[in-house]
Amino acid sequence: SRQFTRPLNDLANQFNTLLSAVAGAERVFEILDEEEEKDLVDGENLDNVVGEVEFNNVSFSYGEDDQTIKNVSFHALPGETIALVGPTGAGKTTIINLLARFYDPDEGKILIDSYDIGLVKRNNLRSKMGFVLQDSYLFQGTIRENIRYGKLDASDIEVEKAAKMANAHSFIMKLPMQYDTVLKQDGSGISQGQRQLLSIARAMLSDPSLLILDEATSNIDTITEMKIQEALYRLMKGRTSVVIAHRLNTIQNADQILVLDNGLLIEHGNHESLLKNRGFYYSLYNSQLKQEVGS
Ligand code: ADP
Repeated sequence: SRQFTRPLNDLANQFNTLLSAVAGAERVFEILDEEEEKDLVDGENLDNVVGEVEFNNVSFSYGEDDQTIKNVSFHALPGETIALVGPTGAGKTTIINLLARFYDPDEGKILIDSYDIGLVKRNNLRSKMGFVLQDSYLFQGTIRENIRYGKLDASDIEVEKAAKMANAHSFIMKLPMQYDTVLKQDGSGISQGQRQLLSIARAMLSDPSLLILDEATSNIDTITEMKIQEALYRLMKGRTSVVIAHRLNTIQNADQILVLDNGLLIEHGNHESLLKNRGFYYSLYNSQLKQEVGS
């Protein structure tokens, strides 16, 4: 049966497929959506991805309506952090949907390590990516199984090492059954912040060169929030990260900030250069982001 059915957004809706892809499909999730994946047969495989990401004049529309993404271009070097910033509906999630090939562009190309991802098998593509999303997609099973989902043949020691790197080990050890604690289907029983730490541990274990992150900051206590930030910092180090960014810290430290509005990439630079521009980012910073400082 389907384990992940909460319809949050497109990415969430597709997460069944995604987890199958990451896991190699056997165990819990025999749910490959055949229509979605019908291009697999003659696709290519990427190996040894270093994590260069390029959007070349990418445009996309979900349907007949106006383009959701309009002629977006950027180029991330391996290891860089790209922060996607902009109002709700600006197209941030859509960029991630395109990068993970839940949709293909109408125009333009997306390249990873100079390979056109339109020619790469979706499962293969997604197996090179780690995902830490707003709601962590935990399944009914033990904490150990949930972390191991990042690498199905990982030993218990590897699982615990990933949990330690993700700052999850200490809260896990305080649970009555520790790593054998069974999570309910939606991960309830532990806090939202703890669920995020588990999804970071899972991503850490899968050791991808490319990360896709959607930062959640609400309903998380200060101490857990600090643990998450530290764990994310460790996870992102040395990996190319595309982040829907809500934390000022992430945005300030990003190598590139892409400011989106209404599907257009309206500003592009780092924190200092964008502040100097005194444009959209500057006003966003002054009206919203800055309030985080010291709070
Ligand atoms: P953001 O992540 O910046 O909030 P999204 O990428 O989710 O923005 O959405 C961009 C636009 O695309 C919005 O107008 C949204 O309503 C629309 N959109 C998102 N998903 C779909 C979909 N599956 N079908 C049609 N329109 C969609």
